[in-house]
Amino acid sequence: MVKKYVYFFGAGRAEGNKDMKGILGGKGANLAEMAGLGLPVPPGFTISTEVCDLFYKSRKRIPEDVRKEVGKNLARLEKVLGQKLGDIENPLLVSIRSGARASMPGMMDTILNLGLNEKTAAALVAKTGNSRFVYDSYRRFVQMYGDVVLGLRPVNKDDIDPFEAIIEEKKRERGIHQDIDLTADDLRNLVARFKAAIKKETGHEFPEDPMKQLWGAVGSVFGSWMNDRAIAYRKMYDIPESWGTAVNVQTMVFGNMGDDSGTGVAFTRDAATGENTFYGEYLMNAQGEDVVAGTRTPLQIAELKKDDAKSHAELEKIRHILETHYTDMMDIEFTIQQGKLFMLQCRVGKRTAFAAIKIAVDMVDEKLIGEKEALARIEPDQLNQLLRPIFDHAEKDAAIKGGRLLAKGLNAGPGAATGRIVFNSVDAEAWAKRGEKVILTRIETSPEDIKGMNAAEGILTARGGMTSHAALVARQMGKVCVAGCGELVMDYGKHVMTVKGRTLREGDWISIDGTTGQVIEGKLNTKPSEVLQVLIGKTLDPAKAPVYRTFAKVMKWADKYRTLKIRTNADQPDQSANALAFGAEGIGLCRTEHMFFGEGKIGPMREMILADTLDQRRAALAKLLPLQRKDFQGIFEVMAGRPVTIRTIDPPLHEFLPHEEKEQRQVAAEMGISYEKVRERVESLHEFNPMLGFRGCRLGIIYPEITEMQARAIFEAAAATRKKRIEVEPEVMIPLVGNVKELADQEKIVRQTAEAVMKEQGVTFKYLVGTMIEIPRGALTADEIAAVAEFFSFGTNDLTQTTLGVSRDDAARFLVPYVEKEIYAKDPFEVIDRDGVGQLMRMAVEKGRKTRPAIKLGICGEHGGDPSSVEFCHLIGLNYVSCSPFRVPIARLAAARAALLNAPKAEPKKTAGPKAKAASKAKKPARKR
Ligand code: ADP
Ligand code: MG
Ligand code: MG
Repeated sequence: MVKKYVYFFGAGRAEGNKDMKGILGGKGANLAEMAGLGLPVPPGFTISTEVCDLFYKSRKRIPEDVRKEVGKNLARLEKVLGQKLGDIENPLLVSIRSGARASMPGMMDTILNLGLNEKTAAALVAKTGNSRFVYDSYRRFVQMYGDVVLGLRPVNKDDIDPFEAIIEEKKRERGIHQDIDLTADDLRNLVARFKAAIKKETGHEFPEDPMKQLWGAVGSVFGSWMNDRAIAYRKMYDIPESWGTAVNVQTMVFGNMGDDSGTGVAFTRDAATGENTFYGEYLMNAQGEDVVAGTRTPLQIAELKKDDAKSHAELEKIRHILETHYTDMMDIEFTIQQGKLFMLQCRVGKRTAFAAIKIAVDMVDEKLIGEKEALARIEPDQLNQLLRPIFDHAEKDAAIKGGRLLAKGLNAGPGAATGRIVFNSVDAEAWAKRGEKVILTRIETSPEDIKGMNAAEGILTARGGMTSHAALVARQMGKVCVAGCGELVMDYGKHVMTVKGRTLREGDWISIDGTTGQVIEGKLNTKPSEVLQVLIGKTLDPAKAPVYRTFAKVMKWADKYRTLKIRTNADQPDQSANALAFGAEGIGLCRTEHMFFGEGKIGPMREMILADTLDQRRAALAKLLPLQRKDFQGIFEVMAGRPVTIRTIDPPLHEFLPHEEKEQRQVAAEMGISYEKVRERVESLHEFNPMLGFRGCRLGIIYPEITEMQARAIFEAAAATRKKRIEVEPEVMIPLVGNVKELADQEKIVRQTAEAVMKEQGVTFKYLVGTMIEIPRGALTADEIAAVAEFFSFGTNDLTQTTLGVSRDDAARFLVPYVEKEIYAKDPFEVIDRDGVGQLMRMAVEKGRKTRPAIKLGICGEHGGDPSSVEFCHLIGLNYVSCSPFRVPIARLAAARAALLNAPKAEPKKTAGPKAKAASKAKKPARKR
């Protein structure tokens, strides 16, 4: 069988369907699906993503057999419609639309009205009797083609679009202000000027031959797969380069044929709040991306009832059909041509974290989906958005009363952001790089702005609706965004903006509330989110916190399905309490050295380090003992019987001494010793490679009295806690063990101390002794180590450093380029390097369990809060992950998703084939709204 590269859709039938995103791209697959459902989709065909690969393999040419297949499908399309590309009586016009497997909004450009030239334009005028419409379409085509295919576009960041400049010039000549006032003749003249400008600036002749136009456009869509902004976008969202894009060739329908025509975009639910209401925007007598581009301010979808009741009703119907069919919130694009509705796109809609969570939870209540599916739909990192700050109401009210409210725009991306104004993306990036908080302030944003948007705290635009580029991208990035704030007048050239008679300059502070759309002059403090106010501050009643309640439901479901336990890394009672509020089930890492920096502790610590004799050292340690004991007891009481892993001292000792002369002198004075002595000790502790130096268990082996003091502090605290009738479960963890004898040495001290304390205090308590697995030798000899260790905790920060031979603190210079060059797919300090570090972990798990089947296994490295790494920990069978308190909810959800995703598949999944879907649909009763 010959390989199929082109898939036809339309007229109630389609060769593809929604499950073929891999080869048809998202847009093509869903166009096919909608056509198959009998929805009004203009017919066309999709050139598969595999051709993208062939295109690059054949030096950016489209292979001959693909050209032939396209020709056949074009003929079929022409036959269905009774129109022909380039025909001088009944010309066919098409759009050329890119469409990758994952939606990349605005990443690659669409070309509309292809097939127009001097002759076909004249034919169309004769046919429609509407010359304004024809020349409006023609000038749009030349403009898009000139930009996308022939490359006439702005060069510098402050430039305006060359085509827009010509339009402005024309309007000036004619003394008019609105595009709509341009006549057919004006538009025709624009076409000529556009073509001349293209020729002059690019040297390219605008092609009159529609087939040439077609191949040029198709080639350029494939070519755009490798343009800078597409590459940047893929990088940001982990879209593999190998996927490629498909190209859709689709019959044009026209929203610009007059006041009975229009175009719009909508979400089947509110994408910002998740509310179950039809949310969208449209413009009458407009085409293509007019709605999104923000050049005219669109109307709310509800208004369409007045403008075109029939189309509105049909859209409502389609909204329900799509939601029940896809069981998700959908994002749709439609066009009305002279009173007839056409569907041009549908896809699962992007949404804010608020909306994602609310929609998932609501759809469970509506019985559209189950709990597991709901969990699958919420990305763990999205929970971060729920934890993001909001403005302090009182302060904001005061600012508004004080007249600082500058304007109100659309609440396009919830949250509160405050920062300094910058007017373009390049500056946003540069300022953010030097640590400034910025608000990217633009008339409107375009795909070129992606990096600047990412660098900004928030995004503010003067034009565009809830579905504008700024709004869409901000929502996806989880950025605060206020869009369509029409009162702002910006002058990019001068780097100023005026509003309400006030002038704001680049660098001025501004605050935007993406939940209400307010724009406020100056800096405003932010305060914790609803979830934090309920859980941490305990200042908000859950009954008054709908966002919190939805969050809590998700957490409840997550806990039901996860098998990993979630612990936290905390060194203090208050941190531990926060983590408990977030759902932590224990402490996976309590770093004792953090305590030494606390109030009144650094002094005795330094005394200990500066001591010359064992007696002096013991004396200093004796001062530290009660201080540490108190810390531990505080934690034990808060944790109330939950396991608490405490690591004995780990960092090199020089970290506790100052390195500047001034401070060294001060320490000398405080200790009553000479400055030279301090300096000498600092020098003697100097190491060429502290990361591999005198640290970890090596300290306790050389100075056993340190381990003894720490063990005593832990166990005396445990005893005291037991005496208060509170359960305790300390787990003493020895760091940096690479050889079982190191651990055995330290274990002996710990156990002797435990016995002694139990005897002295007359109480018993359970405790464990274990180790971190954080250097390769530890992992390699895990079977031997497990003979002594009752638990392992993977210290993946050091394990990554030592396995890769990369010092994390020195890696910045090369690691970012490494990731850019895809030497490592991800920063290995953020996401576990499964092939390298992961292999050692897997081996250590196996060896450890072989020696000691009941060994407790966990992770306490930074990776414990990263969703992909959590999944890996699930896969290799760890018992728990431990992460910072604020990542506990994320880890809970990530653990549940890992368990669900990797569960043995017994029952048919929700995403079964179209047949199973149809059957389940038949059974489902009509949904109440
Ligand atoms: P994007 O991927 O940026 O959303 P699209 O391919 O969806 O790009 O094209 C953008 C817009 O162009 C669509 O929303 C639609 O309004 C318009 N468009 C595309 N194809 C057609 C068509 N065949 N007829 C009418 N309008 C079209
Ligand atoms: Mg586009
Ligand atoms: Mg689109």
